[in-house]
Amino acid sequence: QPVDIVEMLEDVEDRFSFQMQQKNVHTVIDARPAVSVAMLDRDGIDQVLDNLISNALKYTPDGGTITMEADVTEDGMLSLSVADTGIGIPKKDLDRIFERFYRVDKARTRYMGGTGLGLSIAREIVRVHGGSIYLQSELEKGTKVTFTLPLNEEGRETT
Ligand code: ATP
Ligand code: MG
Repeated sequence: QPVDIVEMLEDVEDRFSFQMQQKNVHTVIDARPAVSVAMLDRDGIDQVLDNLISNALKYTPDGGTITMEADVTEDGMLSLSVADTGIGIPKKDLDRIFERFYRVDKARTRYMGGTGLGLSIAREIVRVHGGSIYLQSELEKGTKVTFTLPLNEEGRETT
């Protein structure tokens, strides 16, 4: 269905606002996509965004910042990203992070709950929709996960 992109990101923010407040984590929405409305599977994309935000929250210490970005790539894909100022992921784990049940260093996440499925599910949903997902991270600095989605003709209405 036609989805307002900024509204979709604001709704994610709303769903997590209580947890954000509890951790004193700030959110920033930086959306300047060349399209404002796109034909998206809202439920599927919400699932991806919720997984990414829940990771960002879980792996970011109190007082951190989570930034959601929307943009359109040079080749006309919608790109959405979630960046945090959290603990980051060691380089050696980056290759495997989207695998099912893969979690970094059990000691560091043992008390944080989770099964290691969030990212693999996110990748599966993005793939089904014809997009791709990738992750950039620097240890102790933060992590940014970006995914792309094709925009069809209806999705190209400009603001
Ligand atoms: P689940 O999502 O099933 O509750 P999970 O969060 O551990 O569990 P994934 O979302 O698949 O599983 O993430 C896999 C692993 O990648 C995590 O255990 C964590 O070690 C690392 N990770 C994911 N996102 C981040 C992030 N934003 N910052 C730091 N580490 C992350
Ligand atoms: Mg997760």
